[in-house]
Amino acid sequence: VTALWCEHAWLGGEMPERAVLIEITGDRISAVASEVDRPDGAEVLAGLTLPGFANTHSHAFHRALRGRTHRGEGSFWTWRDTMYGVAERLDPDGYHELARATYTEMVRSGYTVVGEFHYLHHHEGAPPNAMADAVLAAAHDAGIRITLLDTLYTHGGIEEGSYVAASGAQHRFVETPAQWRVRHDLLEPVGMAVIGAAIHSVRAVDPDGMAVVAGWADGTSAPLHAHVSEQPAENAQCVSVHARTPARLLSEHGALGPRFTAVHGTHLDPADIRLLAEAGSNVAMCPTTERDLADGIGPSVELAQAGVALCIGSDSHAVIDPFEETRAVELDARLATQRRGNHAVGELLTAGTAAGYAALGWNGGRIVEGALADLVTVGLGSVRLGEPAHDDLLATVLYAGHPEDVTRVMVAGRWR
Ligand SMILES: [Zn+2]
Repeated sequence: VTALWCEHAWLGGEMPERAVLIEITGDRISAVASEVDRPDGAEVLAGLTLPGFANTHSHAFHRALRGRTHRGEGSFWTWRDTMYGVAERLDPDGYHELARATYTEMVRSGYTVVGEFHYLHHHEGAPPNAMADAVLAAAHDAGIRITLLDTLYTHGGIEEGSYVAASGAQHRFVETPAQWRVRHDLLEPVGMAVIGAAIHSVRAVDPDGMAVVAGWADGTSAPLHAHVSEQPAENAQCVSVHARTPARLLSEHGALGPRFTAVHGTHLDPADIRLLAEAGSNVAMCPTTERDLADGIGPSVELAQAGVALCIGSDSHAVIDPFEETRAVELDARLATQRRGNHAVGELLTAGTAAGYAALGWNGGRIVEGALADLVTVGLGSVRLGEPAHDDLLATVLYAGHPEDVTRVMVAGRWR
């Protein structure tokens, strides 16, 4: 048993607790008590201790684009062409190195679990899951928990009302639903890993493919994710072929449910929001990427009011900063609504932690008995945070905190 005595810790709600003793047995939290004197031998954690943050949406290889795509004009669609250039060049060893560096940056920033939305599948001459294995090994090396959301990607896109064949770099992504199923069955989790599934998008997957992936997920307890309504053009393309929105199409083919997460959801309509709410599904917002790609501001207020659980992801890794990603849910809503206080601080931190863990299929992101021992301590002594009063701690750390303020990161009961 490891005993940690936290100066302040957030146990849920709108206020932190003082003098919190957390006991850890193996990779789990075995006891939590607040307002207790420090027992002999307990390790002291100065500052504010939080559950680890969950990065529910990552494409590790996009990290190579940081600093290379932000200049000038363009859109999601021109950015995508640059991304394909990177996808062409990575082999399994190169991908392992890149993903290891990306995940290490995540751990240092306070993320303790990552959902890797993985569609860079094929490499000529390599075994069928060489790229997936490279990602799993990278997470293991970096000491981050991973849910591999192994992704079906069948078509090159939708043009003039029909699916078109893959071209260029997309050959590394594409397979039929039957091929996906065979390859997916060969995946083996290593270390702290869960194997989940993903439907790339309504652009890349047709209804038959959706049904195959949803069918696999149905027979398991695994999470299922899909990009949903990131772009107005994606909605228009979907309506042109199917006469319904992406969320409705996914719903009609069995994808929605409590283990389903719609990624982005930037351009959901009110009926889509009702569908997701009725299904108990989640929405993963990726505000720093959505800003970078000029996607728009998602309907976080409407989603939260409908009871849809929100979580966060760094997606393209334009920045890796769980504080910025989490507060952006509120700050971007302020820009959209011209109103403050759309989401309370505790609700935002829940989106950054427990809701993300649940969306990735793990019992964590909370400091409670029985949860995974994944913790982050934020030091309060920097010029940035400046020893805030106890009552203001949560808001100060959420609205002014930075990855550089993270002093300790624990995953599965081990300091990383
Ligand atoms: Zn994505």
